[in-house]
Amino acid sequence: MKLHEYQAKQFFAREGIPVPKSGLANTPNEARQVAAEIGYPVVLKAQVLSGGRGKAGGIRLVKNDSEIDSASNLILNSEIHGIPVQRLLVEKAVVFSQEFYLGIVNDRSLAKPVLILSSSGGVEIEVVARTKPEKIEKAPINPLLGLQNFTVRALASRLGVDYALWKALQQISAALWNLFDHLDASLIEINPLVVSPERGLVALDGKMTIDDNALYRQKEFLEFADQAVETPTEQEARKFSLNYVQLTGNIGCMVNGAGLAMATMDCIQQAGSEPANFLDIGGGATADKVAAALSIILKDPKVTAVLINIFGGITRCDEVAKGLAATLPGLQRELPIVVRLAGTNAEEGKKILQQYPRLLQAETLMSAAEIAVRESRQVRV
Ligand code: GDP
Ligand code: MN
Repeated sequence: MKLHEYQAKQFFAREGIPVPKSGLANTPNEARQVAAEIGYPVVLKAQVLSGGRGKAGGIRLVKNDSEIDSASNLILNSEIHGIPVQRLLVEKAVVFSQEFYLGIVNDRSLAKPVLILSSSGGVEIEVVARTKPEKIEKAPINPLLGLQNFTVRALASRLGVDYALWKALQQISAALWNLFDHLDASLIEINPLVVSPERGLVALDGKMTIDDNALYRQKEFLEFADQAVETPTEQEARKFSLNYVQLTGNIGCMVNGAGLAMATMDCIQQAGSEPANFLDIGGGATADKVAAALSIILKDPKVTAVLINIFGGITRCDEVAKGLAATLPGLQRELPIVVRLAGTNAEEGKKILQQYPRLLQAETLMSAAEIAVRESRQVRV
């Protein structure tokens, strides 16, 4: 789960990392009120989950009341990299002399978190890595010992960071590590971390990604998952512990097991269409989970046929069949639904489905894919 800048900064502040004074605004009016509280000049920042907002026009410096209406209207009515802007962070503008990048990210090849520092902040770190690799330094963090001060000093020294900043840099790095560790983050970035003549190091931007697999023990974020972070469909899927990824094709899939889901998507491609989604209902799925999965698939207007492929192991095919049968009366759309059941209680499951001629049954995965693709072509959208 990715957090918005304003959310990341709330955690920064809690951990003692200096951030500018700020407030959220949904309208130009609210923006003016926040600006009145914190004082001009302010920076208006589009709260969308995308980097490079500055270059895309999502960040504007505003000096007074007469500018703020048009500037906030402009950003609130715009899209940043295809995402409509719904909220602004109105933030006290900071004067700075230098921009750093500071971050912690999981390095998969090292199988450890790494601390990354760059003296060329304010630019995407991938770009710096390509154009000025000598301005980036990295060091692995031993997750059992935690981040040690000498690691931070080593990076600062190699990059020739002004000695006067080292102590603050150590404190901010330690705070970042605490957040990374305690919140099960896979990435935390401050870009830019600026040198302000008045306040020392200040975090002007914040980015955090929380490992979705840790959300069960990071209850705080369940509240946090507002509509702007997750689509309603993704929220619904998470509520039922369904592994759902929306794709661009037209055949909706419901499968138990990630490997089987991949194979199912391959078969759909081979039969001549594209999958509309990846959906793994997991092992031991109950009838209500199946019902939820089907309703999520049908919410995607691109879907013109559904392919349900169940290989019963822990999952019982009759339980899946019951779930499907229960949802049929309430379905909003009359789309072809193809079901292939195999494994535990497949015969019982098929018998249940025979009472519902709407559900087309297939014996093999490949034939199920072919029927779904053929039937989808009869559907007018
Ligand atoms: P991003 O483009 O999505 O990474 O958004 P950032 O929050 O990093 O903002 C982009 C750039 O705007 C920063 O790198 C800064 O150079 C500039 N910026 C952001 N906030 C301030 C501010 O308070 N004062 C000044 N002078 N510049 C700012
Ligand atoms: Mn940034």
